[in-house]
Amino acid sequence: METKTMNIKVEKAKTSKIDQVDFENLSFGTVFTDHMLICRYKKGSWKVPEIIPYQPLTLDPSAKIFHYGQSIFEGMKAYKDDNDDVWLFRPLDNCRRLNISAKRMAIPELPEEYFMDGLIALLKLEKDWIPKTPGSSLYIRPFIFASGTGFHASPADEYTFIIAFAPSGAYFSGKVKVLIEEKYSRSANGGVGFAKAGGNYAGQFYPTQLAIEKGYNQVIWTDDNTHEFIEEAGAMNIFVRINDTLITAPTSDRILDGITRKSILDIAKDEGITVEVRKITVSEIVEAAKDGSLKEMFGAGTAAVISPIAAFGFRDVDYDLPQLSHSYASLLKKRITDIQYNRAEDKFGWRFKV
Ligand code: PMP
Repeated sequence: METKTMNIKVEKAKTSKIDQVDFENLSFGTVFTDHMLICRYKKGSWKVPEIIPYQPLTLDPSAKIFHYGQSIFEGMKAYKDDNDDVWLFRPLDNCRRLNISAKRMAIPELPEEYFMDGLIALLKLEKDWIPKTPGSSLYIRPFIFASGTGFHASPADEYTFIIAFAPSGAYFSGKVKVLIEEKYSRSANGGVGFAKAGGNYAGQFYPTQLAIEKGYNQVIWTDDNTHEFIEEAGAMNIFVRINDTLITAPTSDRILDGITRKSILDIAKDEGITVEVRKITVSEIVEAAKDGSLKEMFGAGTAAVISPIAAFGFRDVDYDLPQLSHSYASLLKKRITDIQYNRAEDKFGWRFKV
């Protein structure tokens, strides 16, 4: 079935950069396609989006994004199958989450059809940029920021919505070693942790730098109140397998409601795996690591897909995880990527044809 979409004005780039790209050796999010979607909010409403050549932006120094950080984003991927058909994975969920973030950051919500139709039009134009190399995909970055001006600390009166694409390879290369953090917090009760707000990431960079200096790749955040419970990682939700039970923390106003997380929960249940959504204490993980019942830990997110954790650090002690030949992580990764790349039946109805 052909999708019916709104008419979006397209200004084509004079030349394409595609020949300069080495699609066999892509890193994550560093190369951008020829075009972008742009949509402005002015005088109380969102204007019709347009597609223009990918280009730098001109902003007033008093634009509120620079001062008060009103900025939100999403992360999605487009996948190409063996027949060169293009697929998205649960795209409406990203659109709705963008608007959940918008509301919390006092940014005007974007009409769903502007997001969806704009994304589809841009994908159709940039189809050749979607890599087919295994493990690669087109990373999609929709974002909204306050382009309105003024030094008064209040919401802006103008905003810009952009979608940009980056053909990308794996997010992590090599083994992932995480540090369970007890001093710094990513988010707090009543805060903005559930929103994909730019500042949530800026606040993580310094503690993550400290962890990297100690030889870790990522921080696992614990709750801000007691630091007794693990919550999530920088850009991934966290799953723990103790014996044969798969456990993940419940979402809250401190945790991002990950689309990969909820899909993995459904796939795991479908596989007959015992799943628990409950608070996980750090001491429980440490004890399980000591007595051998901690079988796996992995991160789940759009960019990283499912990233097995090889070891975690806590209070200056490192705990290695076993290397299983039949891990839940590899089983679940295969099932979710088979759906994403149209290699298997999509019994949940998550795949979306562009
Ligand atoms: N937590 C955080 C903080 C994230 O930034 C992300 C990436 N969007 C995730 C979890 C995973 O979410 P998703 O599966 O929707 O990509």
